[in-house]
Amino acid sequence: MNRKRSKLLVIIGFINFFFGYTQDKPEVTKEYANEISTIIKSKAVQLAMNTIDSLDEQTIDNMVMLTEIPAPPFGETKRAEKFKDLFIASKVDSVWMDSEGNVLALRKGEKRNKLVVLDAHMDTVFPQETDVSVKKEGNTYTAPGIGDNTRGMAMLIAVLDGMNKASIKTDADIVFVGTVGEEGLGDLRGVKHLFSANSDIKIDSWISIDGGGVGRIINGGLGSKRYKAVFKGKGGHSWGAFGLANPHHALGNAITLFVEEATKYTQIKGPKTSFNIGRIGGGTSVNSIPFESWMEVDMRSLSPKRLLEIDSIFKRSMKNAEIKYNSSGVENKVTLEIIPIGDRPSGTLDKNTPLVQRAISVTSFFNIQPKLSTGSTNSNIPIAKNIPAITISRGGKGKGAHSLHESWTNINGTESIKMALLITLAEAGLAQ
Ligand SMILES: [Zn+2]
Repeated sequence: MNRKRSKLLVIIGFINFFFGYTQDKPEVTKEYANEISTIIKSKAVQLAMNTIDSLDEQTIDNMVMLTEIPAPPFGETKRAEKFKDLFIASKVDSVWMDSEGNVLALRKGEKRNKLVVLDAHMDTVFPQETDVSVKKEGNTYTAPGIGDNTRGMAMLIAVLDGMNKASIKTDADIVFVGTVGEEGLGDLRGVKHLFSANSDIKIDSWISIDGGGVGRIINGGLGSKRYKAVFKGKGGHSWGAFGLANPHHALGNAITLFVEEATKYTQIKGPKTSFNIGRIGGGTSVNSIPFESWMEVDMRSLSPKRLLEIDSIFKRSMKNAEIKYNSSGVENKVTLEIIPIGDRPSGTLDKNTPLVQRAISVTSFFNIQPKLSTGSTNSNIPIAKNIPAITISRGGKGKGAHSLHESWTNINGTESIKMALLITLAEAGLAQ
């Protein structure tokens, strides 16, 4: 063992002793362990954490109240209005809704040297008519969307209340954000807007609270591209118009071509890449040549390069299938249209990024095993732009996300709120 390494082990040993770390946890650098312990020693921060504990019931009331306002994709406005009211009641420097429908609440810093966002998405996967009334049994709350992600929304208010009660001042501006369109066909429209040229704010650091078990820190964005491919033709009688170009036949060829090429590609060694034809449809009856045939395709990859490559394999296969079918001697022609229905970029944030290190340190401080992972969340957008971003957990115990029997149980629920507070404060800097 060289001297440098033995010195390092002594430091890790000290940290283990100090924070109760074990060696199998991700390495915490001394710099960030010290930073977090300094923040925790602050009287104001202690008061903020105690406030979060004493607000436990209030936070749960907010969670229940917000859950009972339906927020389907593209229908978040009512819930957003209520979220805005909660920020006004808790007091911030300004609160507004942007042109995409996101709610933004600005808490100004002393230096205003950077801007840190703490985000929770407001939408659910459930249609407007879904029964979203919350059922309570002991400390378990059951309703669609409760853990994913209204718990996250309620946590934002608790973090803000804790900071206000303790009159905490930060160097950086903090913007609490409720985003629209995180789920499904929302396709991250809220966060995409916030990182576009039309955004009202310029974001330096992004922290999302979204689902997940305690200790999970997402620092990788799993990218995906989704399309609807549509072959169209004239349509006609199966006997009378026999010989006419048939969109189903063309689609069948297209599937064969794509699956062959994509299978070969995904078998090449490299970051995991997947493809899936999830839905196909079209046609009116067994004895009609359909006028339309369509399929929906989802492709994912951990690597941005591989995502682009499988994307081009898909488009090329469709085009080639169209050409081949139309030159096969059929009467008339089919046409092909490829409609994008989803686009989430991929990427990974270096685990030595200060924000990731801060999340690891804070998680370890609570004696929880930090787990770095990859996911498909709002953080995909900043991560793909190499802007520091993580998605942390809403804590407690969640079950059945995206199902009608989704539940969230208040087991140490305030712990994750305190973790969110500490990570945010570390990233924003406590003002002297
Ligand atoms: Zn979610």
